[in-house]
Amino acid sequence: MPQLLAIAEYITKTLAICMVCGAPANHTQRLVASSERVLVGAQGTYEARCRQCFDPTLGQ
Ligand SMILES: [Zn+2]
Repeated sequence: MPQLLAIAEYITKTLAICMVCGAPANHTQRLVASSERVLVGAQGTYEARCRQCFDPTLGQ
């Protein structure tokens, strides 16, 4: 199990591309306010972003 998690983390970090500028993304940007219900599985709720494009105030 630890090995599987390590692989999943590797794939996520390797393949995540910032949706704004195309740089390697280390953050997941929430696009919808957290007060909204039924977010699980919703399209367009999250997107990968790099550190520069990540906005922690968005979606709060
Ligand atoms: Zn970016």
